[in-house]
Amino acid sequence: MLRKHEATFELWRFAARYSLIELERYYRKDSKVFATIKKVLRLPSEGIESFLKQGMPIAILNEVIRDVVSNLDSGICNMCLLEATTSWGRGLCQTCAVAQERLTEMAAKRDILKVNAEERATAAASLAEQARWEAREAERARLDARAAEDQWFIAAEKAKM
Ligand SMILES: [Zn+2]
Repeated sequence: MLRKHEATFELWRFAARYSLIELERYYRKDSKVFATIKKVLRLPSEGIESFLKQGMPIAILNEVIRDVVSNLDSGICNMCLLEATTSWGRGLCQTCAVAQERLTEMAAKRDILKVNAEERATAAASLAEQARWEAREAERARLDARAAEDQWFIAAEKAKM
């Protein structure tokens, strides 16, 4: 079950693979996670190919690369194109970085609620299936008992003849 613990590379990878878009963004905003992503991209044995092999969608990787490239620029804000991004990194100015973070957090919560609702629905469906199975078994047992009773009755009638 997904909870918004401390962001880790593993959680980021999970969110990326399953296209939990807002959660992926949320984890990617963590500086330690982002540093690990960049490290993997730099490794000759890993790189973007390893992410692709792990089943990450191109759309997600596109955003990751855009983020990495934006990170290289220290010029103007990528979002409002007005303020300087000095010391805020990620290609955003302070105002946009804070706004973006709040949006991402809200959306990540929505993703978590969605996952939890799906888990509950799956659990309910399996309980219902179990109940149906038990009902079928009970019916079968009742029919077996009835058949045994009939057999006994027939045997008893024959014995009288
Ligand atoms: Zn800005």
